[in-house]
Amino acid sequence: MNRAREGADKPHPGTLVQLRIVKTFYIETFGCQMNVHDSEKVIGTLVGQGYSQVETPEEAELVFYNTCSIRDKAEQKVFSRLQQFKKEHGKGKTFAVLGCVAQQEGEKIFEKAPHVSLVCGSASYNRLPEMLVQLETGNRRVTGLSLDTEDTFETPMTRRDNPHRAYITIIEGCDKSCAYCVVPFTRGPERSRTSASVIREAEELARSGYTEIQLLGQNVNSYRDPSPAAWDFAMLLDQVGRVPGIRRVRFTTSHPRDFGKEIIDVIDANPALCNHVHLPVQSGSSRMLASMGRLYTREEYMRRIAWMKAARRPIAITTDVIVGFPGETESDFEATLGLLDEVGYDSVFSFKYSRRPNTPALALDDQIPEEEKSRRLAILQEHQRQIQIRRNAEYLGCVEECMVEGFNKATGQWIGRTAQHKTLNFLRPASEPEGDSDLTGKYLDVRVTRAGPNSLAGEAVH
Ligand code: SAM
Ligand code: SF4
Repeated sequence: MNRAREGADKPHPGTLVQLRIVKTFYIETFGCQMNVHDSEKVIGTLVGQGYSQVETPEEAELVFYNTCSIRDKAEQKVFSRLQQFKKEHGKGKTFAVLGCVAQQEGEKIFEKAPHVSLVCGSASYNRLPEMLVQLETGNRRVTGLSLDTEDTFETPMTRRDNPHRAYITIIEGCDKSCAYCVVPFTRGPERSRTSASVIREAEELARSGYTEIQLLGQNVNSYRDPSPAAWDFAMLLDQVGRVPGIRRVRFTTSHPRDFGKEIIDVIDANPALCNHVHLPVQSGSSRMLASMGRLYTREEYMRRIAWMKAARRPIAITTDVIVGFPGETESDFEATLGLLDEVGYDSVFSFKYSRRPNTPALALDDQIPEEEKSRRLAILQEHQRQIQIRRNAEYLGCVEECMVEGFNKATGQWIGRTAQHKTLNFLRPASEPEGDSDLTGKYLDVRVTRAGPNSLAGEAVH
């Protein structure tokens, strides 16, 4: 099955020819930033084992899908991809399903998709090298499905594609039990990395030229340093922001219950910490929050928003909302719309409630019909669009520092990102020719001249 390739140099006649075995893999990632970063670490692990990454599943011997099961649609996508490539199995390819769908469906995946040979949840990624050996020795059914772990997935090698912004996972799993959510079942219990290992990684990244770090976790602010140093999240955040060479630190996601004022205090005190907080609310109705098992009321959530609004640097606030959770009445829904107005979010990720296996919400009466969920979602999204038009217009005339993320050939504009995580597309001043040097990764001041619901536009200032 493995292709053998000869080295590029022709051997001298009579010498022993050594064949270098190059095993190729392709990986496709579904879902959140946690998954994207898990894939970066999986790629690092595979490359460390002598595998070489290729761009298409057709070219690969091993095909990996790193999956998401947070909503039904995400899960369906994975199975449709597996079906699409079923016939490729006949050509000697090996298929592996990683991540949340793997953990959730377990060995049932072998029944649904018999061409799959490896099923591995994220809590077992440390065992990947050993599982790869099992695959290589011809084992057709390899699984890594235990959630009984205190380990976090740390790799000596992580393959990062973006040379300027790097993710660091500081906490894995989740100990909450929101009634709608699969994460506690798919990612296992909360496990924090030691503060020393996080700081070491940030220092290594800074040495290799990264200037922006994003700390990741299902609930980053539930972070508890397992080492005797016993740092909490605010301390860790502050210290990452003090690593020489690091200009920006972001973090996502924060759980409102564990969000203390000290996080705002360190953002205020340390300019390297981005003035943006993503604080998922899910609903503006305390009755719904109780039924979702969110562990805070609307009033408690708004107290955290008040801390942010009182900060010395203006903090951009973004959130997640679920519409159509079982039992959500029109008045609960209106309470959510009212909360959007009261907070004035900079951006909202909004979702229709999706029934998920194993979750307590499956047993709740009064499921909301699909059309009604769609209606509420459309209303909410239009409502929020108007808020964003107003919010973004407040930036007209302001000068914002941007990290340049790339160049849009179609519009001739550079794509920048502000500390508040807003996209700010910009042109160089007319006196400077466009496109004669690559600005990607640089930090520039840009004056905002136009504002839309989803982005800003402007011109770089000298
Ligand atoms: N830990 C974060 C928190 O508690 O806010 C959320 C992490 S979750 C991976 C990301 C978002 O997916 C949630 O904030 C929620 O809005 C959404 N989500 C999770 N389960 C869902 C479900 N069953 N249906 C619809 N949206 C869901
Ligand atoms: Fe899911 Fe709730 Fe945990 Fe967030 S806190 S990952 S929504 S169970």
